Amino acid sequence: MQLTDQDVLLVVDVQNDFCPGGRLPVPHGDHVIEVIHRLAVRFAHIILTQDWHPPGHISFASSHPGKQPFESIQTGHSVQVLWPDHCVQGTSGADFPSTLHLPQAELILRKGFRPEIDSYSTFFENDHTTSTGLASYLRDRGFARVFCAGLAYDYCVGFSAVDARRAGFASVILPDACMAIDLNDSVASIEREFSRSGVSVAHSQSLVR
Ligand SMILES: [Zn+2]
Repeated sequence: MQLTDQDVLLVVDVQNDFCPGGRLPVPHGDHVIEVIHRLAVRFAHIILTQDWHPPGHISFASSHPGKQPFESIQTGHSVQVLWPDHCVQGTSGADFPSTLHLPQAELILRKGFRPEIDSYSTFFENDHTTSTGLASYLRDRGFARVFCAGLAYDYCVGFSAVDARRAGFASVILPDACMAIDLNDSVASIEREFSRSGVSVAHSQSLVR
C-alpha cells in the first residue's frame, strides 16, 4: 500500500496505564511500541492521543458505590463499561511510556476529560455526537486517510477507525500495531463494525512510501 502526504498515522492511547504495570493493562500492551516505531518512519504525519480523565470520572467503577471494574451500567446515552481508575490527568499513568519515542508527532489530542461522558473514539464522545475536534483538524490539514494503531484494538483504536469513516475519511486499521482487551466478545464485535463501516485492514509491513 502506497503512502502519500495525505495519510496520517493515528497512535491511540499508548499510555502507561494501558501497559503492563499500569492501572488498566492491556495484555502485552507495550508490544505495540516497537511496531509503531517501525511504522512511524514511513509516515510524514503522526498524531498521538491520550485518554485524559479527571478524578471521579463516570467511567471509573470507584465513582459508582457498590460497582466493580468490568461491570456495566446504563448511562443517559449508552451502556458504560466500568473500568479501574486510569489515565487520571497529570498522573504518571496518563503519561506516554518513556520508551515511546515519537517527537515528530504534530498533535497530541486529549479525550475523556468531560466528567460525565466517556470517550473511546478519538473523533466523538460516547454519545456519538459530541466532537473532539479531530475531524475538523484533519480536514483543515488536508488529510484524506487515517491509519489507526495503539491501545486497545477493540475499544479506543477500533472505535476511532470506525468513526474516521463516519467523519468522511478513508480508514485503515493496523491489527499488528494494536493489542486487544477482549472483554465480552469485543474483538468480534468491533471487527463486524469494521466490515459494516468500510474500514480497511492492513499489515504494517505492507505500507511503503
Ligand atoms: Zn478511559
